[in-house]
Amino acid sequence: MTQRRPSLRELRRLSAEAAACTLCAAELPHRPRPVFRVERFAPILLIGQAPGRRVHETGLPWNDLSGQTLRRWLELSPEEFYDPNRLAILPTGLCWPGTDRGKGDRPPMPRCAPTWHPRFLELLRPTTRLTLLVGSYAVAAHLPDQAKRPLADVVATAPELLRRGVVALPHPSPRNRRWLAQRPWFEREIVPLLRAYVRQALADRRAMVKSDDRSAPSEARRDRPRAG
Ligand code: SF4
Repeated sequence: MTQRRPSLRELRRLSAEAAACTLCAAELPHRPRPVFRVERFAPILLIGQAPGRRVHETGLPWNDLSGQTLRRWLELSPEEFYDPNRLAILPTGLCWPGTDRGKGDRPPMPRCAPTWHPRFLELLRPTTRLTLLVGSYAVAAHLPDQAKRPLADVVATAPELLRRGVVALPHPSPRNRRWLAQRPWFEREIVPLLRAYVRQALADRRAMVKSDDRSAPSEARRDRPRAG
């Protein structure tokens, strides 16, 4: 059975609703500012932790050293990474949760993923070919059967998970340098495999856009991205 393409109108309506969300206003130390990017044709869905302070201030996700490392792992230029028709970005918590004194950023707001992810995923699923779960919060939210295992064990199952269209990655934060240095197999074995799946997902997107160009009726033709 073929799944219907997500409606651009539905996606934009949901995005507007999420962008205006204030559910956690009473618990956040600042005004809620959801930061995410979704479009109808993105074959890659990136689910990370939550925006940090810099992302909260600029509104640009992965606009930091973590983002640089992640783009290197994925072998994507900033232009490709920030093209919402290639890569959808939906953190486990859409707003910066603030910091705990001396401990860095707080965990993502717990009600955020249950509130927004099922609705976004329903619309994005028909075009998503590869889901990247970055860090333990994303793994817990989307691979609950793996949540109790050490993250390294889940990351090591990448060959098996990638065949299911999903992969767990360590957080690329500079705070994780030691974790990565202790596990050289990640860069040596998992990163090349990950890049191959990213390239394949982008190639699938080109085919998807061309096929939609031939078969789709009139919906938002002007908004359709060019293949390539
Ligand atoms: S963290 Fe999520 S649920 Fe909470 S205010 Fe932001 S968008 Fe809404």
